[in-house]
Amino acid sequence: MSKTHQYKMTNDSDCPCQSGLSFQKCCQRFLDKSSEQYPETAEQLMRSRYCAFVLKDMDYILNSWHPDFRPNRVELSGSDNHWIGLKIKSAQRGQKDDVTGKVHFIARFKINGKAHKLEENSFFEKINSRWCYVKGDISENVLNSGNTKKR
Ligand SMILES: [Zn+2]
Repeated sequence: MSKTHQYKMTNDSDCPCQSGLSFQKCCQRFLDKSSEQYPETAEQLMRSRYCAFVLKDMDYILNSWHPDFRPNRVELSGSDNHWIGLKIKSAQRGQKDDVTGKVHFIARFKINGKAHKLEENSFFEKINSRWCYVKGDISENVLNSGNTKKR
């Protein structure tokens, strides 16, 4: 059991997903493989995946990805990518007894000191009673020129 997270975050730190809870009470137990705890809702998985991006926990990101959609590896856009905030706009289904769910969120990050905003509708599916990230419809505000894609 090795703690590989190299950044300074204590259990009492605010969770990076900005839930208002401490990291320990929020996403840490999901990222910690030895805890064998898994998110009960799609939103929890969404939050924990955001934390994994913040903490550059690529294993967690890949392991929580639907196997049919999982990339071979996750590309981070440069080592200078710095996540600064997550806001869950809405969540549909994705509760304990559901098997699919959708979460609409906005994540903010900085690349080379420049702030960006990523807005995405993420789709989640439960496999073997665990929530997985399937895919997302991204509408980065910089790129989104008003054309709406309907699925
Ligand atoms: Zn959290």
